[in-house]
Amino acid sequence: MNSSPEQVLKDIFGYEQFRGPQREIIDELMVCRHALVLMPTGGGKSLCYQIPSLLRSGVGIVISPLIALMQDQVDALRELGVRASFLNSSLPPEAQRDVVQALRTGGLDLLYVAPERLNQPSTLDLLRSLDIALFAIDEAHCVSQWGHDFRVDYLQLSILQEQFPAVPRIALTATADANTRAEIVERLGLSEARHFVSGFDRPNIQYRITQKQNPRQQLMRFLRREHEKDAGIVYCLSRKKVDDTAAWLVEQGFDAVPYHAGLTAEVRQRNQQRFLREDSVIVVATIAFGMGIDKPDVRFIVHLDLPKSLEAYYQETGRAGRDGEPATAWMVYGLQDVIMLRQMMDGSQGNEKFKRVERAKLDAMLGLCEITSCRRQALLHYFGEDTPEYCGNCDACLTPAPTWDGTEAARKALSCVYRTGQRFGVNYLIDVLLGVESDKIFQNAHQHLSTYGIGKELEGNAWRSVFRQLVARGYLNVDHATYGGLHLNEKSRGLLKGEERIDLRIDVQEVLAKPEKKSRSSHKVADADRLLWDALRQCRKAFADEKDVPPYVIFHDASLMDMVHYRPLTEQQFLSISGVGQSKLEKYGEAFLQVIREHEAGH
Ligand code: ADP
Ligand code: ZN
Repeated sequence: MNSSPEQVLKDIFGYEQFRGPQREIIDELMVCRHALVLMPTGGGKSLCYQIPSLLRSGVGIVISPLIALMQDQVDALRELGVRASFLNSSLPPEAQRDVVQALRTGGLDLLYVAPERLNQPSTLDLLRSLDIALFAIDEAHCVSQWGHDFRVDYLQLSILQEQFPAVPRIALTATADANTRAEIVERLGLSEARHFVSGFDRPNIQYRITQKQNPRQQLMRFLRREHEKDAGIVYCLSRKKVDDTAAWLVEQGFDAVPYHAGLTAEVRQRNQQRFLREDSVIVVATIAFGMGIDKPDVRFIVHLDLPKSLEAYYQETGRAGRDGEPATAWMVYGLQDVIMLRQMMDGSQGNEKFKRVERAKLDAMLGLCEITSCRRQALLHYFGEDTPEYCGNCDACLTPAPTWDGTEAARKALSCVYRTGQRFGVNYLIDVLLGVESDKIFQNAHQHLSTYGIGKELEGNAWRSVFRQLVARGYLNVDHATYGGLHLNEKSRGLLKGEERIDLRIDVQEVLAKPEKKSRSSHKVADADRLLWDALRQCRKAFADEKDVPPYVIFHDASLMDMVHYRPLTEQQFLSISGVGQSKLEKYGEAFLQVIREHEAGH
């Protein structure tokens, strides 16, 4: 019998130490008190209720809205030797009877249930007849009408406090502002509960935003250099671009599949399944992809188009690196993105107030792109969290962007907008500044303007950067009626009159950023280790296929990296690998040790 939380952590889960507040949270539940847990994705929420469920008498009931994930969660627990099952509408009747039978005979440590299932009278009757270790309410923000994922079935969960007052409740979420939190406390009866609030930072995600030059070449370079055989998601705004990009990646030798609402359910399902089950599939997707996807080893998120808001950006990039290993959030953006999004917003349904909010959100997103200070700090600040000025793991910190005094150039640009009548787009304006001799310019007789040819000290691309920064920082407005025509606004005046100065960032060619410091388990695979790494992944894939589960259910990437790093040769050494407990040692130890021994012998 396992006695202490530490022992369970080591023997079952194969980990050496608790992370952050995990141990304290477990202690609360062990003495039958309630808890509210806010922890970022990948923070390690599951252990907080799984371990007390194993240690306390009775079965732990986990309420989760993500039905699609239950099977994988339960498979992962069973791999660890934990007696787990789930109840939801996807389960055939006979299987449901088996689960109920197991519950009645005390044969389960953990049961995952969908909220609508829990709320049924028959389920409640059943639960009342059982010894229950705890209730864990996962994705607890779904109870809040204020938040963005409200689910009616979650409202009924107040039943838990009414009907099972003596059973400890733990509510967990990764997204909850103060309002949402208050609602969780109220609806789930947690006023007595201790709150465990961890920051929202995802330190293992490296944020990088770079100017769009030749997006495909840039993407190719990024993938080849940094994520050759990794799983990742590439977000695009339109379905057509999704299809084109996926096809192009395939031509370049990547294993890429498209995902958007225009594909049949069958194709979508197949592509999603491949992404989940295989090691290095890239999904090219519109934002329709990602909700309820809980693949822990997504190594990169790419945005080829600008997201609409920082909320969207944070949520989408947050799908990377749930396993805590290094991951990259990489984005390219250009002025065209801004113009397109502004046009979409202006042309959208909805009242003026709604549009104003949307525009403000887009501006905040642009702000993040244009700042020269730490991206992480800016991002977290937006969500109300203060962090140091230097995170060391974003492009701004790794390769600080040099700036230049852009006052003069900005004045020329604004003046050119004014002189040409505030109706032309960027390309035309640049032609005027450069003094290009084009038919269009002659037709408009713009070769006689005072701004014609006054910008020859900069190249076209540099002017593009000037305009982009002016738009992003609100010195120029984009007019959708004239398809991207620029016009001046209140803010431009000071700059134009020379009362204000402005520093612009120098747009360097994309710089390869690398994290400076890495934790022990997060060493990237060096080329020399590649062979062993691939062999281990192959071994993992063979087991995963045999058992029809995703590879990470067998071992997380972190465990394989540990194996590459430490090269265990005996069972005892294998047990010291992160993520290897008794059950996994017995099931896989021999096979993986064999792979390592063969590799070592070959050297
Ligand atoms: P969350 O639900 O908060 O997104 P998970 O519970 O899925 O996060 O945990 C994220 C990852 O971290 C998982 O791979 C999990 O096994 C691992 N993990 C959790 N706690 C620990 C720990 N104490 N030591 C090592 N790894 C841990
Ligand atoms: Zn930073």
